[in-house]
Amino acid sequence: MADASPRERRAAVRVIFLGPPGAGKGTQAARLAAHLGVPKVGTGEMLRDAIAKETPLGNKAHPYMEAGNLVPDDLLVALVRERIAEPDCARGFVLDGFPRTLPQAKGLEEMTGGDAHAWVVFRFEVPRDELMRRLSGRRWCPRCQATYHVVNDPPKRKGICDVCGTALVQREDDRESVVAHRLQEYEERTRPLIEYYRTRARMLAIDGNRSKDEVFRDLLHALEVPA
Ligand SMILES: [Zn+2]
Repeated sequence: MADASPRERRAAVRVIFLGPPGAGKGTQAARLAAHLGVPKVGTGEMLRDAIAKETPLGNKAHPYMEAGNLVPDDLLVALVRERIAEPDCARGFVLDGFPRTLPQAKGLEEMTGGDAHAWVVFRFEVPRDELMRRLSGRRWCPRCQATYHVVNDPPKRKGICDVCGTALVQREDDRESVVAHRLQEYEERTRPLIEYYRTRARMLAIDGNRSKDEVFRDLLHALEVPA
């Protein structure tokens, strides 16, 4: 924006979270976006929403999601391109669940003017057995979308949403067999992005095997943002 004051330009922040499924990226992305006052652009939610509404893109993506496979890059790039063109993203945004492949990262660089150096990339590391434990214990309310964990964050009444009383379900992509597949896909398709961004962005390693509050403090510290 040509008329943005220096302060507004400085405030524009673009954040990417890299790391395996279950590393806590989604939770931290939501918290960071709220703290910075910018939108969280979450491809998982955007896709689930498109599938529920049976939009053309949702109908194309549904079979991939159901099988626990990654949705094709061109569908996701189109989804993100549309979203970040909206006015509320002008001062920055926090991406969640994207990019996960090299073609997605290249698509992102293209749609944001090739200026990858403006990005902050948080790279989360969490041991594999901890990831399995976290993911297979997730439960979700299909009505109000509240999330729980059978060990870490259980509802007051077993299997029932605290907020609205609906029976909780396990998402298809959190079933154990699908989780193992997702971790494998991460290794093959997403891990190469660490090399891609190493020289292109400000990349910061985060130990994700700690409490949510500790991880969040690290993020703010790395961004030099007051708590
Ligand atoms: Zn609920």
